[in-house]
Amino acid sequence: MSIIMRGTDVAKSMKEELCKEVEDLKKSGIIPCLSIIRVGARPDDLSYERGAVKRMELTGIECRVTKLSQDVSQEEFEQTFLRLNEDPSVHGILLLRPLPKTLDEESLQAMIDPKKDVDGMSPVNMAKIFSGDETGFAPCTAQAVMEMLRYYGIGLKGKKVTIVGRSMVVGRPLAMRLLREHATITVCHTQTENLAMECRNAQILVAAAGKPKMITADMVSDGAVVIDVGINMDDAGSLCGDVDYEAVKHKVSYISPVPGGVGSVTSSVLAKHVVKSAQKI
Ligand code: NDP
Repeated sequence: MSIIMRGTDVAKSMKEELCKEVEDLKKSGIIPCLSIIRVGARPDDLSYERGAVKRMELTGIECRVTKLSQDVSQEEFEQTFLRLNEDPSVHGILLLRPLPKTLDEESLQAMIDPKKDVDGMSPVNMAKIFSGDETGFAPCTAQAVMEMLRYYGIGLKGKKVTIVGRSMVVGRPLAMRLLREHATITVCHTQTENLAMECRNAQILVAAAGKPKMITADMVSDGAVVIDVGINMDDAGSLCGDVDYEAVKHKVSYISPVPGGVGSVTSSVLAKHVVKSAQKI
């Protein structure tokens, strides 16, 4: 029987410690604060924002949302961004992405104060993740996968891990985090030859491609640990992951569902990063 890796259980276990840390900060006169910047009103952004706001509330972290119109100019955006960057009462800034094509996302990534970059998008934090420096913030989703593995006591040392997806938000930073824990990593992408074989070779398989149910039962080895990062809509319009959950779940030792898996841990990681940033002040 496989064990279902429930994100809500992981989030619950993180909450206790976080609440205590927030309390300690408040006792010393610091109110940890996250500032979210949203451009327009994309349903994905609104959904992520709701989850983040709720999580901050539950942990006692102040959360401010700055809403900008879809046609905001680069100059106006930068002014807002710099104001938050310099505001000492703000400990973390979350930029809901992707931004409209009219804005230069890359230059904004470089502009964020690395100490407030709680979703690990700045080149400074990326460099830290790639050099194995613990003081950097990893993108929350990549870190959420690590929290899930830790909570369920999945050993990583010497384990064969395959990650499907090489984005800067999930696949690559996750590979670096896992490497730090002495796993042996294979990172796959659209040009990978024989993806099924690379997946079957894995003791731990992480799917982060954004393709509904692309990981089928024949691509997974018996007893593997399967973590599904994907958030997609299936043909019936229901939320689903990159893994064909119903077909795969009987074969594996652990599996994370969608919804209710990694996505439920991401906002807890965000809260953890805001607290870490506030503690450094
Ligand atoms: P990107 O589109 O940026 O990257 C997708 C990666 O998957 C690319 O490296 C791409 O390869 C690879 N890929 C796509 N299709 C295939 C395929 N058929 N075979 C092999 N590799 C493939 O996506 P993100 O990394 O931003 O997100 C991935 C998924 O995770 C999405 O479903 C997204 O919604 C979800 N997500 C979930 C979050 C959460 O909190 N749970 C947060 C962020 C994302 P190539 O590089 O060659 O193009």
